[in-house]
Amino acid sequence: MSKLEEALADVRRAVSGPPCSVGQLLATLDEEERTSLLKLLNAEDYPRTPSSVLVRAISAAYGIDIHRQTVDRHRRSDCVCGRRFE
Ligand SMILES: [Zn+2]
Repeated sequence: MSKLEEALADVRRAVSGPPCSVGQLLATLDEEERTSLLKLLNAEDYPRTPSSVLVRAISAAYGIDIHRQTVDRHRRSDCVCGRRFE
């Protein structure tokens, strides 16, 4: 394992805690809804749905408010969800 890979593993191990709001929402959805949301989050659509539009749709569809920054972080895998191994 390279030094960089070892360091990355250490960083990932150091991060703990519950998933972000997006990860928590994904965990509660049934398969159809989860697939639909993942597709939008992973920008498989073109043109990419902006996070500001996605948060409004999430609010309308599921009745929960998620900050745009939270969606952006999750999309960048910069939240706890993206740093977990599982
Ligand atoms: Zn997340």
